[in-house]
This record gives sequence, structure tokens and C-alpha cells, in this order.
Amino acid sequence: MSEKELSDVRADLQERYNQFKARGLKLNMARGKPETEQLQLSMGMLDALNSASDLYASTGDDCRNYGMPYGLPEMRELFSHMMGVDASNIIAGGNSSLNMMFDTVSCGVTHGFSGCLPWGRQGAVKFLCPSPGYDRHFAVTEYFGFELITVPMLPTGPDMDVVEKLVSNDELVKGIWCVPKYSNPTGITYSDETVRRFAALKPAAKDFRIFWDNAYCVHDLTDTPDQLLNLWLECKKNGTEDLPVFFVSTSKISFPGAGVAALGASDNNLAVLKKHFSYETIGPDKLNQLRHLYFFKDYDGILEQMKKHRKLLAPKFKAVANKLESELGGKGVACWTNPNGGYFISVDVLNGCAKRVVSLCKEAGVTLTNAGATFPYGKDPNDSNIRVAPTYPPVDELEVAMDLFCICVQLAAAEKLLN
Ligand code: PLP
Repeated sequence: MSEKELSDVRADLQERYNQFKARGLKLNMARGKPETEQLQLSMGMLDALNSASDLYASTGDDCRNYGMPYGLPEMRELFSHMMGVDASNIIAGGNSSLNMMFDTVSCGVTHGFSGCLPWGRQGAVKFLCPSPGYDRHFAVTEYFGFELITVPMLPTGPDMDVVEKLVSNDELVKGIWCVPKYSNPTGITYSDETVRRFAALKPAAKDFRIFWDNAYCVHDLTDTPDQLLNLWLECKKNGTEDLPVFFVSTSKISFPGAGVAALGASDNNLAVLKKHFSYETIGPDKLNQLRHLYFFKDYDGILEQMKKHRKLLAPKFKAVANKLESELGGKGVACWTNPNGGYFISVDVLNGCAKRVVSLCKEAGVTLTNAGATFPYGKDPNDSNIRVAPTYPPVDELEVAMDLFCICVQLAAAEKLLN
């Protein structure tokens, strides 16, 4: 486009933007929350447990009382299917997997893994953060004082050339955050080769750990779901079972904040973690575990529930994808992911424009995740990545919000090109 053409386009976009602004919208696409209808899917769970229910576990333990610090065997079995880890290597815990991740980092910092000095006493320790990634992961390790090292995300997962180099050369690199299936926010699933390379890592640090947060393991949205290779089995083949710690929860299967979370790890790691947890709690909420078991019954019950979630969510992802394609396709101002599952779509706008897009949207009443949030320290070096969370608003609101979003992406691009 000539400067004149571009300037006309900008004037037109500005006009359309002003019209949106005048509508006084109040829409939110910031966080990956289930919509109310999704929560309704689990209402039966609140009736599944009552005073007439059998409240004893298969072991004979009374679930109303203290005991069973690693959770109900039936719950660990159910998680075993979700996580691909032996039930005996799983702890079914409380209501939040992020909580278990925090505790695992905390355990490393204060007490250490593999008989090494606690991370907190080893100096300037570092953590690898594949980016764009999940802001709360990065925040946990920032909170504990790690230096956060950005690792580029590729369509196959973290750039393993970079990971291998950093991990094998630097004893101060202690871990890496991974969301291996339907990654937050790009929605990609790690390739088989990536998983194999993780299992074959030869870290300089004996106490290096892979934090494998499989939060979206059953959150498929299409008939052609992604398949993730089982890291636990790959590690067993390589004799590297001590490398990964696995996390999962039912937050986006039943109720966020009132679901059940689990951690899976090798015998060696579990010995350390179980000791740590034994000081922290006498045991998890087993009644909530029982409630989940009565409601879902088994892994098939979970998969059935996920089909219902999919029915509600797939049209929303499609609505966002359609808007992006129809409004921005072929214009060279943005590229985006088209995931087969999970909770997010990741949009990359022109370098230097993400903050501007988010603030234009905000001024016109549409809240997005802060630009930069998907990178360590909240700083996107290219200022280009925006996480779109399509799950919460209804489709009609989502379409309006995306219309505005697409105008803002183009407006910010025109402003950049004219400056
Ligand atoms: N892990 C990832 C990748 C997430 O996206 C989220 C929530 O958005 C969580 C963990 C939080 O899980 P929980 O509710 O089990 O703490």
C-alpha cells in the first residue's frame, strides 16, 4: 500500500473503532475459565454424595476421617489413566494442581532432590520457561527467586536444541515448565520426537526436573485430537524416571477450584515429596475425591464428560478462528494457532503492536490477557503475542469481541507502518 492508501485505511479503521467504543461494551476474554453451562455439566456431582452414600474406601478407610495421605486408591487409578503413570506413583491431592507444582518447587528450594543441596542454597539457580507459556508457572519460579530463561516455542514444542544445550551445560539450570498437550497458550502438542528428547536429556544438574503439567490431557475439541507420547514410559526405557514430575487436575473437567489434583513421580522423587507433604497436611479432602468417583465412575466417564464440554466449546473456538480468518486472513498483520483442544488461541501481531492492541481493546470495553503475560517477567521481547481465551463469553459476545479485536490488530499495524 502507498502511504496515502494506508492512511485512508487507518482513518476507516479508526472510524469503525470509534463506533465500537461508543457501544460501551463490557466483555472479557482474559482468563481461561469455563463458562457457566460447563459448570452445569457437573451439577450431578453435588448430588452424587449424600448422607446415604457409602463413605468407605475400598481399603475400608472412612473417608470422613483423617488418613490416606496419598488419596483414595480408586482416585489414583483414575488419574493413572489420565496421566499415563502407574497408580502407585501417583498422589491424589487437594483442589489444585498449581498448588502441587508450587509445593514441588518449594520442596526443591528448601530440601532438594536426588540428595543434592536444596536449590535455595546452590546460588543463582535458573528455570527454563518455554514461551509463550503459562504466566502462573513462570510466576511460581520467579517468586522463589529463580532466574527465568526464555526458551522459544516451536510447533513441535519447546526448541529442544536450546533446551538440550542449556540443560547439559549449566548445573544451575534446575527445571523446565511444560504444558505438553494443547499447550497454554499456543494449543500445540509436543511431537513424539520432542517427548523422546525430553526422556533422553542428560542434565548437568543431578537435580534437574521436568515439570510436566498435562492440564489439558483430555480436553479435545475435534474428531482428530492430538496424541501425546507417554513421557513416563519413554523415561522408563531410558532409565530417566527421576527427570519428570507429572501434574494434572479435574479443574476444567468438573469445577475449577473444587476439583481434584494429582502429582505423579518416580519412587525416588515420591520419597522426597511424600516426606515434604507429610509435614504440610494430614491428608487431602477424600470426600471430594469420592464425589468425583461416584459421579464419573471411571475413565470412560471422564471422556464422556469431555465430549459434553467439547460440544459447548468447539463452536467458540470455531467462531474465533472464523473471525480471525475472515478479518485478518492474508493481510500479513497477524498469525494465529488453530488448536485441536485446550483453552486458548495464541495470536501473534506485528512486532511492537501487542500492547497497543490490548490497550485499544480495553479502552473499547474488551479485556484481554495483558500483553507480555505469556513471557517470563511479563515481558514479551517482540511485544507481539496475545493470548485469546474463548471459553467464557457466549458465542454472540465472542463474535463482537473478535470483530473489535481484529479492528484493533489492523489499526495498531497501520499506526506502526505509518510511523
Ligand atoms: N496448568 C495450566 C497449564 C493451566 O492453564 C491452569 C489453569 O488455567 C492450571 C494449571 C491450573 O490448574 P489447577 O486449577 O489444577 O490449579
